[in-house]
Amino acid sequence: MRVWIKDPLAILAVGAERGLVVEGSRIAELVARGGAPSEPVDVTFDASRHVVLPGLINTHHHFYQTLTRAHPDAINKDLFPWLQSLYPIWARLKPEHLRLAARLALAELLLSGCTTAADHHYLFPRGLEDAVDIEVEAARALGMRMTVTRGSMNLSQKDGGLPPDSVVQDEDAILADSERVLKLFHDPKDGADIRIALAPCSPFSVNERLMRESALLAERYDCQLHTHLCETADEERFCLEVYGRRPVDLLEDVGWMSKRTWLAHGIHFNAAEIGRLGRAGVGVGHCAASNMVLASGICPTCELERAGSPVGLGVDGSASNDSSNMMEAVRHALMIGRLRYGASAITHLDVLRWATEGSARCLGRSDVGKLEPGRQADLALFTLDEPRFSGAHDPLAALVLCGAHRADRVMIGGRWRVVDGALVDYDLGALVAAHRQAAKDFA
Ligand SMILES: [Zn+2]
Repeated sequence: MRVWIKDPLAILAVGAERGLVVEGSRIAELVARGGAPSEPVDVTFDASRHVVLPGLINTHHHFYQTLTRAHPDAINKDLFPWLQSLYPIWARLKPEHLRLAARLALAELLLSGCTTAADHHYLFPRGLEDAVDIEVEAARALGMRMTVTRGSMNLSQKDGGLPPDSVVQDEDAILADSERVLKLFHDPKDGADIRIALAPCSPFSVNERLMRESALLAERYDCQLHTHLCETADEERFCLEVYGRRPVDLLEDVGWMSKRTWLAHGIHFNAAEIGRLGRAGVGVGHCAASNMVLASGICPTCELERAGSPVGLGVDGSASNDSSNMMEAVRHALMIGRLRYGASAITHLDVLRWATEGSARCLGRSDVGKLEPGRQADLALFTLDEPRFSGAHDPLAALVLCGAHRADRVMIGGRWRVVDGALVDYDLGALVAAHRQAAKDFA
């Protein structure tokens, strides 16, 4: 089946003024100005009201946190006290909670134009040993691509870490389960729906052995590595006190300086560290909203890109954002970037590139993130029909500057998953009602 996405209002691709042709799950060809598809098509979709983007890719999230948004115990705090307030509340998380939270977060992302999502799930209280399985099931239910990261915490307060004992596991259990889910779910091939990455949570919640062993496993199973690094000044102080080293030195010592690694946040680097990360090809998932809400700082995106690091975007957990909207994340990245670098240094095309191609590189994928022949047909189509866009001239710039937040259509692997701004074959109302009810367990 060949589908021509015809004559878009605008499209984030060069030489595709008349749109593109999707064949099966892939992009077959771009159609340039004055041209037509090289072979007959079966279906023509009139995209004259639509701005067409590659599906947005989220590099960092904690789905379970959708249950504790705007929580009165946690709002208006920096990262460490914010975490310390929430750890005991999160310890109540049960499989049925995560099942709803994962579906809700994915639905929210999908409606905002996101087609591939990474979730960093590091919370495994007793009874929630199958958290990764639950997230994979949710991704399949929504028809989204996911990198489910098998997160972990094994350094609790009694060992000098930040989390309480109730939410950590021992490292042998973590490593055994990491291997189990890699064998069960990880698909390193092009066009994969599900990938697994290994994700010890942060320097203040795991030990060095877990980081080292995770890197060895990643090598063996050909998967990515993910962690929070250099998010706050508190974390830097913790590393100097406990490890006698700065976070990037720790990363190097545990064998993580490679293209397999992408970091969440990446704010507090010095110039030499940025050079080292760039040479190694370590990616950074920039989470602008979370960084602003928790007053963590500003990611040096431009320096990192210049040094050679892939830069992607992430919404981060829904308790620090407090939403899971990828188009909003694009706008936030533009705003905070301009505060740091000036109005001409960061354009709408830069932040759209980070949310697509840059995020794909962070996740180790070359099959998504760009509209070109051979890549997966993952598309996000936005209309400019709402009052907020009325009077806008440059359609691509308008998406970012006027604040688009809801896609009209989303295609993943050649299949429509959002039509007319609604999920296809999914009862969102029932999901929201059940999720809202479940959140009462965390009051
Ligand atoms: Zn995070």
